Amino acid sequence: MPTYGRLAVTFTKGEGAWLWDQNNTRYLDALSGIAVCNLGHAHPAIHKTICAQSQQLLHTSNLYHIPQQEELATKLCTLSGMDNVFFSNSGAEANEAAIKIARLYGKQKGIANPAIIVMDNSFHGRTMATLSATGNPKVQEGFTPLLEGFIRVPFDDIAAIEAALKQHDTIAAILVEPIQGESGVNIPAPDYLNKIRALADQHDILMMLDEVQTGIARTGAWFAFQHNQIIPDVCTLAKALGNGVPIGACMAKGKASEMLTAGKHGSTYGGSPLVCSVALTVLDIIEKENLCQQASDKGAAINKALTEQLKNNPAVVDVRNKGMMIAIELDQTCTELVALAVEAGLLINVAGDKNIRLLPPLIINNEQIELLVNTLCNLIEHHTQQK
Ligand SMILES: *Cc1c(COP(=O)(O)O)cnc(C)c1O
Repeated sequence: MPTYGRLAVTFTKGEGAWLWDQNNTRYLDALSGIAVCNLGHAHPAIHKTICAQSQQLLHTSNLYHIPQQEELATKLCTLSGMDNVFFSNSGAEANEAAIKIARLYGKQKGIANPAIIVMDNSFHGRTMATLSATGNPKVQEGFTPLLEGFIRVPFDDIAAIEAALKQHDTIAAILVEPIQGESGVNIPAPDYLNKIRALADQHDILMMLDEVQTGIARTGAWFAFQHNQIIPDVCTLAKALGNGVPIGACMAKGKASEMLTAGKHGSTYGGSPLVCSVALTVLDIIEKENLCQQASDKGAAINKALTEQLKNNPAVVDVRNKGMMIAIELDQTCTELVALAVEAGLLINVAGDKNIRLLPPLIINNEQIELLVNTLCNLIEHHTQQK
């Protein structure tokens, strides 16, 4: 079905931050399949794991114990401070689990119709529940009736959350992205998550973070919430956890971890031996290659180089980053830059019409960073002069 307006390019192979098309033309990937391939393409250790695991066992279902799944859950809990994990196959499904946890939590508190506070400009996925939670009219258009039970407030606005908590006595949870990705790399005030944590404690509601895009070293920490020295009650993951194999995870802590008991939720594929063995390898590589630190250092280097090269361009409103989540905000729409960049051998993305979004693989090297910055700055200079 024509659900995507695709660019006129077909990739046939990759290696690290490089991709090649059918004509053997090379492209620098500064998007990583939308924050998925943090370790780049065709990583030899991932290849090895997929081969070895496929020789042993791909799938048995969750009717039986799956040691790889248990090991991955333990590892994720150790890294995050969470207590347990439900495995799904995508980010939207991970968020579905979070929404179900919130509703059970509300019910347990005696709320007949529990509600979840969600944010303007958020993105949580394309299933009916997650598009209802999403704060983008384009995503919701045509799909009413939406799922009920979401109360929307502006992002990065603690007073708005406080007001909603005062106004409604049905709230069971707050669901928020630590940094909004799809709407343009919106980085909130440094203490935003700390204040949400405090409010959630004060009102006995769940703090639920959608780290589908920010999680797994992207922002320079394993999880974005670790920049704030807090732990949420629920945290969802997907994208980079599998580096390209489909996996999602909903981690929970404390009371939230006791909601989904036997029979309350499930997935046929979720947490299979194959995807869990790959995810374990992903975590292992990030640890061994110190990629959290690398994301932090390289993100800062890219921001510095972009800022320097673009400093005299009045059309550039802002260059911002948290680790390797990077945006260049222009004072004009720039969606046409994506296709122009492809012609120049560079893969980028535009989010929220005016923000060039970069999500390079964390293994990108200095030479590639230089090529990325130079190619992109040339494109921006050209584009903004023409207007
Ligand atoms: C990508 C994304 C999702 C949806 O993940 P899918 O795997 O496409 O279902 C949800 N939340 C955030 C923050 C995302 O970036």
